[in-house]
This record gives sequence, structure tokens and C-alpha cells, in this order.
Amino acid sequence: MSDLVIGIDLGTTNSLVAFCDAQGPRLIASPQGQRLLPSVVHIDPATGQATVGDAARDHAVQRPMETIFSVKRLMGRGIADLRDDLNYLPYRVVPHAGDGDESAAGVPLASGAASAPGAASGSGAASPSASATGTASSAAWAFGAGVATDTAAMVDVQIAGRRYAPQEISAMILAELKHWAEAHFGKPVTKAVITVPAYFDDAQRQATRDAARIAGLEALRIVNEPTAAALAYGLDRTQDATIAVYDLGGGTFDISVLRIQNGVFRVLATHGDTHLGGDDFDRRLVELFQTEIRRQFGADLDFDPSTRQAIRGFAETVKKQLSENPAARVEIDIGAGRVYRRQITREAYESLTADLIQKTLNCCIQALSDAGLPSGSVQRVILVGGATYAPAIRREVAGFFNAEIYTAINPLETVALGASVQASILAGKKRDQLLLDIVPLSLGIETMGGAVAKLIGKGQHIPAHASTLFTTYVDGQTRVKFHVLQGERELIKDCRSLGQFVLSGLPPMPAGIPKIVVGLMVDANGILSVSAKEQRSGVSASIQVIPSYGLTRREIAKMIRQGLDHRAEDLLDHWLIDLHNQIRTDSAAIEKTLACVGDEIGEDYRQELIGIIDGIRGMLEWNDPEAIARALYYLNQKSAPLAEIAISKTLREA
Ligand code: ADP
Ligand code: MG
Repeated sequence: MSDLVIGIDLGTTNSLVAFCDAQGPRLIASPQGQRLLPSVVHIDPATGQATVGDAARDHAVQRPMETIFSVKRLMGRGIADLRDDLNYLPYRVVPHAGDGDESAAGVPLASGAASAPGAASGSGAASPSASATGTASSAAWAFGAGVATDTAAMVDVQIAGRRYAPQEISAMILAELKHWAEAHFGKPVTKAVITVPAYFDDAQRQATRDAARIAGLEALRIVNEPTAAALAYGLDRTQDATIAVYDLGGGTFDISVLRIQNGVFRVLATHGDTHLGGDDFDRRLVELFQTEIRRQFGADLDFDPSTRQAIRGFAETVKKQLSENPAARVEIDIGAGRVYRRQITREAYESLTADLIQKTLNCCIQALSDAGLPSGSVQRVILVGGATYAPAIRREVAGFFNAEIYTAINPLETVALGASVQASILAGKKRDQLLLDIVPLSLGIETMGGAVAKLIGKGQHIPAHASTLFTTYVDGQTRVKFHVLQGERELIKDCRSLGQFVLSGLPPMPAGIPKIVVGLMVDANGILSVSAKEQRSGVSASIQVIPSYGLTRREIAKMIRQGLDHRAEDLLDHWLIDLHNQIRTDSAAIEKTLACVGDEIGEDYRQELIGIIDGIRGMLEWNDPEAIARALYYLNQKSAPLAEIAISKTLREA
């Protein structure tokens, strides 16, 4: 079928492939279930055999001359453009030696300024016999009859006498992703939307198209990464907005300011640092570990390549753990019975890397100024790139722009998902826009006992907002889990789970005392933010999700119908759960009061109340809500005098 178009994020560090249909965009995993393909290619110098991804990355330290990473930096660039980059690349990069075809020299090289989005203009279709780029394609990667490209390569990567154009190396990565997609769909995939940085010039965009062609993919469109990120969030449906896309990847930082008007994107400014990314954060930890290891085990300690590789690996793992947890443990075996151990807190890590974040903010200042925008004029900031998982980055960026930050989508996946949205638009499968004017299904929070408290009802116009108070059920409780659900049924088991988050760090208080305000907000773009804040202590937590992703219109209609069909039984079930909760809280409260009034009440009355509580607790097994409601009413009547006594006692003591 011709309308199968995939979206590809061909990243410097990682590449991903996604697909979008009526259910919304989602990632396509490898047959082994892998979602990220490290953009690394290893070429065996003896056989020319190429390996792509994780297996290739494992060679990076041991065989640096044969392991090609960051090939994106070479795409469409000449040796002169690459002076900065070459210091970072251990493999050999040489000026391109074409086979007599010098047309590459005629390709205009912009001076790095942002070119107009989508302005890639090829010099026409290549005839298959035009020029074979690269003097040898590896045995494993012989793409049909030679490698025909529009733009000849400007540099080559040289490995053991063989030369590879950057387009060929990128093609190996693209071909692997194509393979994932074909395995997923069980049929050939020949069309794709591929993303590139907004600042890529014509030559770089053309080189990307060429790489696609070599891989057997027609690049239907080359889309700017920030535009793709905005598409993933559905911002093309926004009337008029100014947004910033903050993209901190493995080795590059890009800040883009976009203007969206009636679904049309315009890049107002881009800025960034081509040598600043998550790797620099790793490196700070590596330096710390190495210094401390030398201090502990001897200043003359030399790290062999495999130890260096291990330390780097540990550093990245620790960094990722610190995105989730307030501290992480480090344990590195450096051989000969020597083990380096330490614990590092998020705080310590943040002060170790604060200047790196500041550097990105300086780029943001520049981008805003280039765009001619006063601070405060950006309405939304999308966080993209794996490094933006770090809480410090989220905090600092939100603070800098003083704007809402979007984090609903995994930042590693945003660009690929957006590429697939563009792909589905090109394939003529644009999603139904109607869904976005109203909340299609009710949104709520799980309550004790497995019921759902619906806070925003189906059909409400967006933006929509609601809030309610929650409290704790157990004395001294310091954590509360919130579960966000969608659907028309009353019990969680019949609703669709959208996500969970935990409010932790509550100061211990008696059950029922904490006042936790839970707010739900669906913004104009259909993105749901749920926050919980305890009033006394101010501790808070939140989550963001896109409720419409993962559901087709038909599924939504079915969920609504089932809600109606089960209305009566659902309400009864919900009532029963509420009554059971009330049995628990009321009897616990009365027992507490009995304990504190001491002998101010008669023994007979005490025994009577204890008897009623015992009886009513037995009703937790019952399924007759009316009987339980009557019993609870009786308990309240009977315990009213106790409440009076307790109140006057408290007043007296006060
Ligand atoms: P690129 O766009 O350059 O291909 P990615 O967006 O794939 O880069 O980001 C890769 C970077 O994200 C790496 O430096 C990786 O360590 C970092 N990263 C991935 N997950 C996390 C995490 N949970 N916390 C912090 N950094 C992370
Ligand atoms: Mg990226």
C-alpha cells in the first residue's frame, strides 16, 4: 500500500521510527522490542561488514577508528566546515574523493544561518548511473546497483582503506529503522518523513534525502525537528502561538522559537551549541569519578579502554538515576580487588553541572533576542531530547521562560512521533479535529476502594479546569499515589489508565488532616496537566498526558456507549464503595474519640457504641447499599452525644 508513510528522527545520538494512524502517533519497536537505535555504525575493517546500533556502540572505545558515531555532523558538510567537529571524532574523516564527479563543489553552502523550513531544493532526480558516492559500499550494505545521489559527498569516512560517504553511513541507520517498520507491518515500507535540525542548510537537507534514497526510502518531506515536536503535541491546530522548543540531545543543543498561525509554522530564530549535550553531563561525572579513583588508589593509575568505557557507562547510568531519584549509588570495580564506591546526591550532581544548563539558557537569551521577542512572549516551551529528563533542566527552563513547559511526551520520542504525524497528514490520514474542541471522555482520579472521582466531565469545552480536595486514610501517611483515569464507567477497572504519580514528602499527620488540592487542567491543545499540592507543607507533584492519544473515534464512541449501558449498576457499585469507605472512616473516628474522652462517658454508652461499630464493620462484606446507609445513619445518630462530649472537652482544655 502506498499510503504507509513512517516518521523518522535521524538523531546524532539516537534514531527512532514512528507511525501515526487514527489512534495517534506511536513508536515502532525493533523485532526485539527496542525503541531507540543508537546512531552508531561499526565497520569490520577486514570484511567491510557493518553493524548498527547497540552492538556497534559497544565497539566505540575498543575500536574507535572503525566505529562511526555522530555521522549527522558530517552530512552535507565540507572539511572546512568541520574543523570544530573533527577534534571530537576519533575516526578518520577525509575530503571526498569522488570518481571524477565534482558537482559537489557546486552545491551552495549556507553560512549556518537558519534556512527557511522545508526549503530543501534538490537539483533534480539523479539518474541511477550518475555518480557513485563512496568508492566502496560494504558487502553487507550494497544497496542495489551503486549509490546514486544528487549531492555528492563532501567528506568521506575512511576505514582501513575503504571510504564511506556520510550519506551511506546514515543510510545504514535508516535501513535498520526501515527494517524495524517492515517487520512490524509485515510489508515493504518505502516512504518516510525525516527530521533535521532547523538550522540545516540545503546541502545538509539534500544529503539527508540522499541517505534515505540509498536506504530504499523516499523522503516525502524533510521536516524541522522543532516543527515535528510541535506537531507531536498537536500544536498545528493552534490558531496563533509563539512557542520555544528546547532540545538537549546527546551532543547538541538547539533552541528554536516558532510562530504558529493557522497551522502554519514559521521559524523565528534558532540558536544553540553544536558541542553541548547529555554527553557533557556524563563527562562531569566521569571526571569526578576518575579524580576520586586516583586519589583513592594512586595518582599514577592508568585507565585502560575497557575501564574507561565502563566508567562512562556508569556515569550515564548514574545521571539517568538522578533524573528519577534524589540520590544514586556508584560502584566501580577497577580490577585487582579495588572497588570505588560512593553515593552521589542529585543536589551535588546539579551543582556539578549548573554551568552547562546556564550555557543553554544563554543560547535562549540570544534566540529570543534574534527573534525580536521580549522575554515573556513565549507561551509554551516543549522539552525535547533525552537530557531534558533532568529535573534541574525542567525547573530552570520553566523559570527562564516563565511559561508552561510541555513534558507529556517522552522527550526522547517527541521528534519521531511528530515526524509520524506529518507522515500521516501527507498520507491523507489527518486526525479528526473535532476531538479537540471538547473533552471527549470524562477525566478523573482513583479514590479509595477502586472507584473514580470524575472531575472533568465528557463534553466540556476546552480549556477545562477542575479541582478537588483529597486527604489521607492512614495516620502518619507521607506518600499518596494519584492515578489519572479516563472513561465513562465508575470503577477503575472499567476505565482507561492515563498515568500515575506520587506525592511524597508529606509531613506525617493524622489521617484526614492533610488537605491535598488536586487540579486537572485540559489546555487549548488538549493536553492534560494534573497536579497535587498539600496545603500546609506546600509539597507538590504533577503529571502531564495527552488523553486523546491511543484512542480512535470509534473506541471513544464505544466507551461512551458502554458507560450508558452500565449506568445503573455502575452507580450502585460506586455508591457501595463510598459506603464501605465511610464505614472505615466513621468507625475509626469514633474509636479515636472513645479513646480520648476516657471516663467522661458511661460504660454502657461506650459498650453500645462499640457494639454498633462491630456490627457495622461486619457490613463491609455486604452488598446492600441501602441497608448499609441505614446502619451508618443509625451510627451517626447514636454517636452524636459522644461528639458533643468530645467537643466540650476540647473547648474546656483549650
Ligand atoms: P540526539 O537528539 O542527539 O540523538 P537524544 O535525544 O537521543 O539525542 O538524547 C540522548 C541523551 O539523552 C544522552 O546524553 C542520554 O544520556 C540522555 N538521557 C537519556 N535518558 C535520560 C534520563 N533519564 N535522564 C537524563 N538524561 C538522559
Ligand atoms: Mg534529537
